[in-house]
Amino acid sequence: MRAREFIPDVQRVLDDRVEPAYRLEQAYRALCSGLVRDWEEVSALPKSLRAALSAEVPAAVLELAHIWRANDGTRKYLFRTHDGDLIETVMIPERSRRTVCISTQVGCPMGCTFCATGTLGIKRSLNAREIAEQAFVVTRDIAPERLTNVVVMGMGEPFLNYNQTLLALKVLNDADGFSLAARSIAVSTSGLVDKIRRFADEPEQFHLAISLHTPFEKERKMIMPVASRYSIPELMSAAAYYVEHTRRKLFFEYTLLADVNDQQRHVEALAELLDHPLYHLNLLRFNWTDTGFVATSKSAAKKFLHYARELGLSATLRPSRGKDIEAACGQLAVRGLRGQPQRAAVPFAQSSPT
Ligand code: SAH
Ligand code: SF4
Repeated sequence: MRAREFIPDVQRVLDDRVEPAYRLEQAYRALCSGLVRDWEEVSALPKSLRAALSAEVPAAVLELAHIWRANDGTRKYLFRTHDGDLIETVMIPERSRRTVCISTQVGCPMGCTFCATGTLGIKRSLNAREIAEQAFVVTRDIAPERLTNVVVMGMGEPFLNYNQTLLALKVLNDADGFSLAARSIAVSTSGLVDKIRRFADEPEQFHLAISLHTPFEKERKMIMPVASRYSIPELMSAAAYYVEHTRRKLFFEYTLLADVNDQQRHVEALAELLDHPLYHLNLLRFNWTDTGFVATSKSAAKKFLHYARELGLSATLRPSRGKDIEAACGQLAVRGLRGQPQRAAVPFAQSSPT
């Protein structure tokens, strides 16, 4: 059980009142059910304790400010944190799946040139409670349907907020917590090499995706500032470490940008770079952001996919979801946040500690 680390404030209230140890577990289970936003709703706790908790620690740390619903069933949630920061979360329904895409930072300092979040800069990292609660709120919103998958692909670079992100995922995975299988949880990183290795050594079987976006060093530096810090060989060495240590599939994200990274030569270089039975190439057409890039056409994307498969790669082309409400990958920018006094989207070295 992760209750002590996850809700230390609740633990303190219980300690002050000299409550029995199982009360912490009851409070933790109630929060992790996703169905509780107020201590008064936790009928397992005695009335006086509910009142004490309500007076001292909030059951919900995020205020749900708005929900948008897209034509394809995708939903986007706008949350306000206790200190007034805004973040976004997305729920994507597909056949029997209900996937939530959660954020780990307010903005992102990595500055990828095609990403709306990247244009915001970074305000701060979220704590584990704020990260996990996004999944709780979506659970409540879609009930009685159940959330089946969590992807950490919203706002922010999760590996710049490693400890809090991992704690949130462990709570989501915890059999006494949210109880979602580790293999139904995936994290995407822009490629922080040391953290990829650390993630490989975690005991839980979470999935990992690495945002690659081009097999060429020079091009990668132009669209992803992180490439100036870690070269592609360094990145691939961490990728190899990951698959050797976990024996799990490793996903490489590849956003197709017209005339930038969608040519034949890219497929050919990818076929060499990703020549491993556990590597999988996840193609996605660029979703419009106000960054000057253009999406590769559907037909060119399909050609790219077919050529990649012809050259022996395991590859898929993911459809974009929720575009009419700007909920697709890379579009989370919290309208109105831009221009606010955040730190600039430049070197990630200056971002918050993990
Ligand atoms: N920061 C992490 C996870 C969040 S972004 C990362 O970069 O991996 C999730 C994915 O969306 C990444 O692969 C990212 O490169 C991609 N992405 C960003 N902007 C996009 C856009 N406008 N269109 C399509 N994909 C985009
Ligand atoms: Fe940050 Fe990921 Fe966007 Fe890059 S693509 S700016 S790492 S959120």
